[in-house]
Amino acid sequence: MALILEGKSLAEQIRAEVRTEVAELTRRGVVPRLQVALVGEDAPSQSYVRSKEKSCAEVGIASDTARLPVTFGQAELLGLIGRWNQDPKTHGILVQLPLPDQIDPDVVLAALDPRKDVDGLSPFNLGRIISGEPYFYPATPSGVLEMLRRHGIIYAGKHVVVVGRSELVGKPLANMLLQKRETGSATVTVCHSQTPDIGYFTRQADILVAAVGMPGLISAEMVKPGAVVIDVGINRVPGATGTKLVGDVDFPAVSQTASAITPVPGGVGLMTVAMLLKNTVHAAKINSM
Ligand code: NAP
Repeated sequence: MALILEGKSLAEQIRAEVRTEVAELTRRGVVPRLQVALVGEDAPSQSYVRSKEKSCAEVGIASDTARLPVTFGQAELLGLIGRWNQDPKTHGILVQLPLPDQIDPDVVLAALDPRKDVDGLSPFNLGRIISGEPYFYPATPSGVLEMLRRHGIIYAGKHVVVVGRSELVGKPLANMLLQKRETGSATVTVCHSQTPDIGYFTRQADILVAAVGMPGLISAEMVKPGAVVIDVGINRVPGATGTKLVGDVDFPAVSQTASAITPVPGGVGLMTVAMLLKNTVHAAKINSM
């Protein structure tokens, strides 16, 4: 049976570290402040934003959410972002994705001041993962790497297979793993929807990361015995009482063959919010000097 890489105690550790840093900054007169923009009524987005607000409050970060109607225009949103970029009391800005059709997320992300882009998704920060040093790394890939590090799992020199190539998770994660530095140096393979026979690749992974959004995609036959399996997927499926959350990995079967595995829920998802808090404290530091 695999070691369960649970995120709860690690996320609590990170939150405790963040709380100490927030208290120190607050003593110096800087209260870290996160500005969130939530456009429309998307139910998962509303729930993610509520959880971010709650987590901020727990560690002493001030957060404010602009809840905007689904018809809100791109120009108006860009206007708000321009104001928040200029506001010295706003240290971090986060635009909850997805956005309604009339708003182009690429235009919006490009308008964020990279020094306030705590989600790390602006073209500047994403580009800097390939060349240089971003102000912020995106929270979910950071959460994956932090989870490996804090569990003492070394990925330098290992073959890591990432299934999924989104800008939010797969692409930044693959590039972070590749960086020529202590927190990188893995051999990386990336699979996606056009990869024929992903099992051919996943069976070669020392560390396998699934970030697709497809329940049961990764079966036990697709995992090398003894591999470490990180499940980023979050899928709602019918359960005994309503819906339940599952990842992309067939957890009951894969946990019999992997050496370590993350659960869903209770794994990477908890790390993501913790890393956002860490990024917000970093934003308060670099924007208050
Ligand atoms: P996304 O933007 O929909 O990207 C999914 C990726 O999976 C795409 O690259 C797609 O390939 C690939 N894919 C689709 N079908 C595939 C298949 N049959 N075989 C191999 N690859 C396939 O999703 P995302 O935003 O990256 O999110 C992925 C999952 O992670 C979702 O379940 C999401 O809810 C979850 N998530 C979790 C967290 C967390 O905190 N735990 C954070 C963010 C997202 P193409 O590029 O070719 O289309």
